[in-house]
Amino acid sequence: MTIPFTHQDAANLADRVTGPVLLADDPRLADEARGQFLFLSHSPDIAVGAATESDVVEAVRFAIAHDLPVHVQSTGHGTHDHIDRGMLITTRRLDHLHVDPASRTATVGAGLRWRTVADAAAPYDLAPITGSAPAVGVVGFLLGGGLGPLARSHGFGSDWVRSVRLVTGAGELVTASDTENSELFWALRGGKSGFGVVTQVTIELAEIPSLYAGSLTFSAEHIADVLRAWSRWSRDVPDTVTSSVAVIRFPDVEQIPASMRGATVLSVRVAVPNAAEDAEAIVAPLREAAPAMADDIGPMPLTETGRIHNDPEDPSPMHAWSSAHLLRTFDDAFLESFIGSFGADGETPLTVVELRHIGTERPVPDTAADGRDGTYLFSALGISPTAQDELYDSSLAPFLAEAEQWAAPQTPVNFLADVPIDEVTARAWSAENAERLRAIRAQTNPNGRIVGLR
Ligand SMILES: Cc1cc2nc3c(=O)[nH]c(=O)nc-3n(C[C@H](O)[C@H](O)[C@H](O)COP(=O)(O)OP(=O)(O)OC[C@H]3O[C@@H](n4cnc5c(N)ncnc54)[C@H](O)[C@@H]3O)c2cc1C
Repeated sequence: MTIPFTHQDAANLADRVTGPVLLADDPRLADEARGQFLFLSHSPDIAVGAATESDVVEAVRFAIAHDLPVHVQSTGHGTHDHIDRGMLITTRRLDHLHVDPASRTATVGAGLRWRTVADAAAPYDLAPITGSAPAVGVVGFLLGGGLGPLARSHGFGSDWVRSVRLVTGAGELVTASDTENSELFWALRGGKSGFGVVTQVTIELAEIPSLYAGSLTFSAEHIADVLRAWSRWSRDVPDTVTSSVAVIRFPDVEQIPASMRGATVLSVRVAVPNAAEDAEAIVAPLREAAPAMADDIGPMPLTETGRIHNDPEDPSPMHAWSSAHLLRTFDDAFLESFIGSFGADGETPLTVVELRHIGTERPVPDTAADGRDGTYLFSALGISPTAQDELYDSSLAPFLAEAEQWAAPQTPVNFLADVPIDEVTARAWSAENAERLRAIRAQTNPNGRIVGLR
C-alpha cells in the first residue's frame, strides 16, 4: 500500500515537533512502539513521540492532512492488536506532574503511570484512585472508568477526574470539565476511546491517612473452604471494604519462582482504608478460614498498593487473553458453580480466575462509566499463544452459559479487552449511553480519525 506522505512531509513535521518522528524504515521505531505485551510488534507508517501538547496537535493535524488513522499508546497495557498502518502517537514523554495538597488535586501528563502519581501524593496522605496495577497508565485506565482495590470505598477512578485536556480528531485542543464541554467530559469518564488524544488530566486525590490492606495466600486444599468463608464475609462487610479472590494456576515457566511453578493457590485480597482501629477485626474471619501459606495483610503505605493484587509488572512475552462478566447478583449457587469449575478439583487450563466484590450503595456521579449496578465482577485470564478459541470453548463457555442467570447487562469496559471491537459497545453500555457516546464521537472525532470505538 502506498504511504500518503513523503519523506519531506515527515521531515517538515519533525521540524515542528519536539519529540521524535520515526518512519517505518527507522530502526528506532520498534522500541518507540513497544508496550507491555512483547508479542506485539507494531509497524505504523509513522510514529510521533509526543513530548508536548503542541506536538500532539501537530501530529493529529498531519494525520488529518494525509488521511492517516491515529493510534495512541501510553504503556501498552490496553493495546491488544498489532498496529500496522497509519500514525502512532506515543505519550510517555508527556510526563509532567503537579500535586497540589491544598486543593487535593494532581495534574497529570498523559504519559504517566499510576505509580508515579501515587508516590508523589503519598507524603500528603493523599492517594489517586487507581487500578490493581501501578504500572498501568493513568489516562487509559480513567478513560475506561477504572475499578481498583478501593472500588467499594471510593468508586471508579474516573469519578475523581476534574478536567481533561484533549486534542480532538479535528486537531483542536479543548478542555472538558463540569463547566466546559460538559457533554464531552461525561464521555471521557468511562467512554473509553474514539474522542481524541488526551494530553493531561486533573484528578482529585482521596484523603487516606491509613490503609490496612494486602493479601492472604492459601494452598489448593483450602480453596473451597476459604472461598465459601470469603463469600459469606463479603456479603456483610461495611461498604468501605473492598476485596477479591483469585484462583491462580501458576504456569510451569521460568518467569515463575521455582517453588510456585505448576502450583494452584487462592489469593484473597482486601483493602480497608481509614479504619486503623477496627481493620484487624474486620479481616479476622478471613484469617480464621484456614491456615494461610502467606499473610501479607497489614498497615500499608499508599505507595505499595500494588501488593494488594500483585499483578505482574514486567513487560510480558506471554500471550494472555481475558474475559469478564459483571454479576447482577451473587449467591451460594453461583459460588458452588465457580468452585466446581475453577476450584482445586476443576479441570481448567485458565491461569487466573477472579471475583472482585465491587457493589456499593454509594451515590455515583453521572458519567459514561456503565456497569455500576453489579455486585461482583467475574474475570478469567488464560495464557495461550494461539489457542484462544479452544481455551474459551473448553474451559469458559460451559461455565458462562450457566452463569448467564447471574450476569448484569453491562460490564465495565476496561475489563473487555479481548472482546471484538464491534461487540464492545453492546457489552459495555446501555443503549441510551451507547447512543449518547456515538453522538459525542461524531462531533469530536470526525471520520473516526482517532482509532477507537465508534
Ligand atoms: C495487568 C493489568 C491490570 C489491570 N488492572 C485493571 C484494574 O484493576 N482496573 C481497571 O479498570 N482496569 C485494569 N486494567 C485495564 C487497563 O486499565 C486498561 O487496559 C487501560 O486501557 C490501560 O491503559 P494504558 O494507558 O496503560 O494502556 P495503553 O495500551 O497505552 O492504552 C490503552 C488505550 O487507552 C487509550 N489511551 C491511552 N492513552 C490515551 C491518550 N493519551 N489519549 C487517548 N486515548 C488514550 C487508547 O485507546 C489506547 O488504545 C488492567 C490491565 C492490565 C494489563
